[in-house]
Amino acid sequence: METAKKPKVLIVGAGLGGLALGILLERAQIPFEIFERTSTIKPLGSALSIGPNLIPFLEQIIPIEDFFSASKPMTDVRSFNEQRQFVFSSDFSPIEELTGYKQHIIARPVLYHLLLRQIPAYKLHLNKRVLDIGENDKDDKAFLRTSDNGYYEGDILIGADGAYSAVRQRLYESLKQKGQILKTDLGDLPFKCTCLVGQTDVLDVEEFPQLKEPICQFWSTLGEDKPFSSKAAEGERFRGMDNSEWGPIAAQSMCDDTRGFPIPGGNGTLTMGDLYDRTPKNLISKVMLEEKVFETWHYGRRDKEQ
Ligand SMILES: Cc1cc2nc3c(=O)[nH]c(=O)nc-3n(C[C@H](O)[C@H](O)[C@H](O)COP(=O)(O)OP(=O)(O)OC[C@H]3O[C@@H](n4cnc5c(N)ncnc54)[C@H](O)[C@@H]3O)c2cc1C
Repeated sequence: METAKKPKVLIVGAGLGGLALGILLERAQIPFEIFERTSTIKPLGSALSIGPNLIPFLEQIIPIEDFFSASKPMTDVRSFNEQRQFVFSSDFSPIEELTGYKQHIIARPVLYHLLLRQIPAYKLHLNKRVLDIGENDKDDKAFLRTSDNGYYEGDILIGADGAYSAVRQRLYESLKQKGQILKTDLGDLPFKCTCLVGQTDVLDVEEFPQLKEPICQFWSTLGEDKPFSSKAAEGERFRGMDNSEWGPIAAQSMCDDTRGFPIPGGNGTLTMGDLYDRTPKNLISKVMLEEKVFETWHYGRRDKEQ
């Protein structure tokens, strides 16, 4: 098929999802544009654990040797108590025998940039917060409007704009007006866990000798009924308009609350505060781990063709 006859895809959100879709479309020579509300790409997050369910996909969309050289294989997760004594280890090594792939740990910002560099720069529009979406009855196009009064048309519109997706919310508003919304889709996004994520500056390998290991040292401390290691965070409901508001300011009070939490390694007196002090403050974010599967994930374009 010639490019001219292919549908044009508008993608809202340049997160991991939006970028991965963009790369697939680029490979298939399907025209697309990505609209991202932030004005700069910030290296947020800590690490992602990526294994046999995702590596075969990454093999198809990025030079996989770049992924392997930027990540470390992980064979087990070691748990310690608050006295920094080893308690147990979860063994991930059978994964390789079963699937042919090791589990890998990669810094989220690094994976992000591996994806980003596959996207032609002119197809990614920053500073474009999408406010409205709809369908243009006149020429049967999907459209979006951005906060800078931009208006863009395409044949397919994809919301890859995160857990509090504006695209989903606008779609559901129009379905609600037509009386076609499912009750389950109207419910809040539940979450049971609030996390602090961030990445320290480069650490001194003499002070943290475990960094010399070729295998990722994944260590965790089991808290003794601490609010930040129990379900107490559940009471702290998300109330902002979008999750970007959970940046440095919201993260700071959580850092203050948890500075004294003991972690293994170093000279045996390390706490979370020692890591916070080595981390640029604007790169620490507070993230909710929402868990919900929405029933309605498309409407309009496909229904018209049926
Ligand atoms: C800040 C952050 C840090 C995280 N860190 C980790 C981690 O360290 N380890 C881990 O395992 N998981 C982490 N997660 C969770 C995991 O990375 C996410 O589940 C994953 O990124 C989801 O990808 P996504 O593309 O669906 O959404 P997101 O990554 O949320 O991307 C959505 C994108 O859409 C943009 N957007 C939102 N609304 C609009 C709008 N109206 N108009 C235009 N653009 C819009 C956002 O700015 C964002 O760039 C993190 C998530 C976030 C948000």
